[in-house]
Amino acid sequence: MKMIEIDGSQGEGGGQILRSSLSLSMITGQSFRIERVRAGRNKPGLLRQHLTAVAAAKEICGADVEGAVPGSQEMTFRPGRIRAGDYRFAIGTAGSSTLVLQTILPALWFADGPSTVAVSGGTHNPAAPPADFVIHSWLPLVQRMGVDCAIELVRHGFYPAGGGEISAHVNPCQKLSPLSLVSRGDLIAAKAISVIAGIPSEVAERELDRISMHFEGIAREVRTRSSREGPGNVLMVELTYPELTEVFSAFGERGLAAEAVADRLAREVKHFQVSPVVVDEHLADQLVLPIALAGKGSFVTTKVSSHLATNLRVIAKFLPLQFEVLTGAESARISV
Ligand code: ATP
Repeated sequence: MKMIEIDGSQGEGGGQILRSSLSLSMITGQSFRIERVRAGRNKPGLLRQHLTAVAAAKEICGADVEGAVPGSQEMTFRPGRIRAGDYRFAIGTAGSSTLVLQTILPALWFADGPSTVAVSGGTHNPAAPPADFVIHSWLPLVQRMGVDCAIELVRHGFYPAGGGEISAHVNPCQKLSPLSLVSRGDLIAAKAISVIAGIPSEVAERELDRISMHFEGIAREVRTRSSREGPGNVLMVELTYPELTEVFSAFGERGLAAEAVADRLAREVKHFQVSPVVVDEHLADQLVLPIALAGKGSFVTTKVSSHLATNLRVIAKFLPLQFEVLTGAESARISV
């Protein structure tokens, strides 16, 4: 069978090129070879998170893999049949467990029976979807497409300690149904959540006091976790609309005032609220793969980010479909 050639340096040149290739290779049974892996990043090549995603994909579909070693910039993946099972994968660093989970879950949606999967590593990383985002924003939308899956945050894991865990239970489905997200409707609920692990509770209270100044009447919650799950702090705002829930996040950092964390988050949330957008930039690039698997769907997002554009090109290498991108002044509509 023909080998799909993937250029890991195209567009964004990041890890998503590899992850989308792995998911789609497993599902479509097509082999791929990737070169210049993550060439657009400061530390190119395969890092622990990517290697764990490759190892997980390999185990789930009995793939034949060449070149999956630390730092490698070239790799070949020949998939076998997707097998249901009880899987457990460990990243071993604070690398994102949610990104590893999102790589393999789509394959398990089409497995030959129910599966469980647990991934340990980071669950709340600045440049990856926090577990709460995956559970409250992404998951309900793929469930609406017919996916029968539950995801649980077992333990928080923050950078640099890691040590968190996220797990999923999946029942397979035959096919996905189309998803259309072209208007978000009026806001139903807004909630701010500060998670602290091994961090003084005063930090959470200050973050929430400040966020309440930006969003009058917002519901607030402090989640205190054991210091063994830290040290770490993330402030999140969850906006619930009739069509979807958006989860925005900002991380506490040493030397950064709690108020500054809240102000940073508030800017992002306000930007979304005043825009005509339905799906924010991050959710957009995580929804295109399920929508492509459904073969039909559309959504309105902010703009075609370089991450999204790259992902669309990679998906089109594996699936015989065309994305239509309509770019307006303040938003873009992506359709399959
Ligand atoms: P690298 O490119 O260095 O390999 P990476 O593998 O972590 O990094 P990217 O290719 O940059 O990954 O993809 C990161 C993913 O995390 C993207 O889907 C992006 O939308 C998502 N993401 C980043 N920040 C957030 C956030 N705050 N909320 C939700 N999702 C996020």
